[in-house]
Amino acid sequence: MEIVYNSTRDNRIQVKASEAILKGLSDDGGLFVPDHIPALGKGLKELAGMTYQEIAYEVMRLYLTDFTEEELKSCIDSAYDSKFDTKEIAPLVQADGAYFLELFHGATIAFKDMALSILPHLMITAARKNKVKNEIVILTATSGDTGKAALAGFAGVKGTKIIVFYPKSGVSPIQERQMVTQKGENTYVVGIHGNFDDAQSGVKKLFADKELAARMDRQGYQFSSANSINIGRLVPQIVYYVYAYVKLLEAGKIGEGDKINVVVPTGNFGNILAAFYAKNMGLPIGRLICASNDNKVLYDFFRTGIYDKNREFVLTSSPSMDILISSNLERLIYRIAGNDPEKNRDYMNALAGAGKYEITKEMGEKLTDFYGGFASEEEAAQTIRALQEKCGYIIDTHTAVAACVYHKYVEETKDHTPAIIASTASPYKFTRSVMKAIDEKYDSMTDFDLVDELSSISKVAIPKAIEEIRSAPVVHDHVCEKDGMEQAVETFLGLQ
Ligand SMILES: *Cc1c(COP(=O)(O)O)cnc(C)c1O
Repeated sequence: MEIVYNSTRDNRIQVKASEAILKGLSDDGGLFVPDHIPALGKGLKELAGMTYQEIAYEVMRLYLTDFTEEELKSCIDSAYDSKFDTKEIAPLVQADGAYFLELFHGATIAFKDMALSILPHLMITAARKNKVKNEIVILTATSGDTGKAALAGFAGVKGTKIIVFYPKSGVSPIQERQMVTQKGENTYVVGIHGNFDDAQSGVKKLFADKELAARMDRQGYQFSSANSINIGRLVPQIVYYVYAYVKLLEAGKIGEGDKINVVVPTGNFGNILAAFYAKNMGLPIGRLICASNDNKVLYDFFRTGIYDKNREFVLTSSPSMDILISSNLERLIYRIAGNDPEKNRDYMNALAGAGKYEITKEMGEKLTDFYGGFASEEEAAQTIRALQEKCGYIIDTHTAVAACVYHKYVEETKDHTPAIIASTASPYKFTRSVMKAIDEKYDSMTDFDLVDELSSISKVAIPKAIEEIRSAPVVHDHVCEKDGMEQAVETFLGLQ
């Protein structure tokens, strides 16, 4: 059945999947949501034995209904290829009573690769289908990982340019180095003096600027978004939950229909929303465990029904989760408000104004699938250390937040349902924090010495992504103020 996409702020807006991917954000500022969530077409037993690519096709075809089989399969094959360092694409590792779903085997060793390696292909295909003549300009705000993954995905892709804004002092040294060494004529990286929310708000403003859009159009450009609000990001993320379930089934760890819990280290609420969609497609998921770091807006929200961004912004060692406005939550709010765009708009206006809103009791009752937890810096570090000591398995700082919250969840609920923990970054991406968590003594070593030491204690080879940046020259050194983002875009595109 054909799926159309509505705006979360206006149901009269209806677009096809390819149009939603091209636009990224709806003109009214809303997010595109499927008008219904499709049921898994094939039984989970039928999916057993399939490759990642084959399962990706079976899931994505249900959402991207205006793509032909040939188009979609070609996108999938271009994305999930030898850029990944394992044929499995997303391997499961059993450690300490849980299954870690390693989503970091792509080009930039973080889970954003799972979606951003396919998005450029979806976008180019969507542009062709919609007879778009303009060049697509990807505009992205990043808290660290999206930026590099988007740059790697779009670099050198014909008919596209990409501009990435990141908080100058809000990403890890390795994250920054990965971005500023990005090759490709069509790439542009700018550090802003502000935090991630400033970068994201600035990008949203640029998207909403009609005058800028008109000027760009005259010169043959149009914006699109690679941020996790794009449904072309969300849909590929549903795949690996289905895949993980099927792998557990194949391995005889669970029986068909058995429930699993899913634990997700959360920032913008994209990854866990994909798990929620998977559950609503019929994948037997019990609880969706939403793990936050010290920026625990979501934890508070699930406990109280109040979303309140008015608080201190904390810089943590899991910077990709240092977020106070979880953009994708709007899709959940819209849904629990009964797909009511007016109600949703009121909440989002309140968030934009007073910085907070409170959902009704009735809406709160629809959130029982979710469990919110958080881990402090010290707790996350302890989790890394304990797991390393017990199993020799080393996880990154974001995954550690999830693993810690999972332990708290089991302690509180005694729910021992098999659990998948989304492992969202390689420990090599956050080497210093990871090594410091294992032993304070490592803090005196240089970043690249730490990389070698991590390799020696984990017995995991240094990923190509890290080897590459050791020697790569810095090619981007642009910096701007919070209110200088429009100027930066004009400079790069040569707009008058
Ligand atoms: C982006 C990111 C997250 C948060 O994912 P969301 O979809 O934004 O909730 C968690 N961990 C890592 C390593 C990330 O890069």
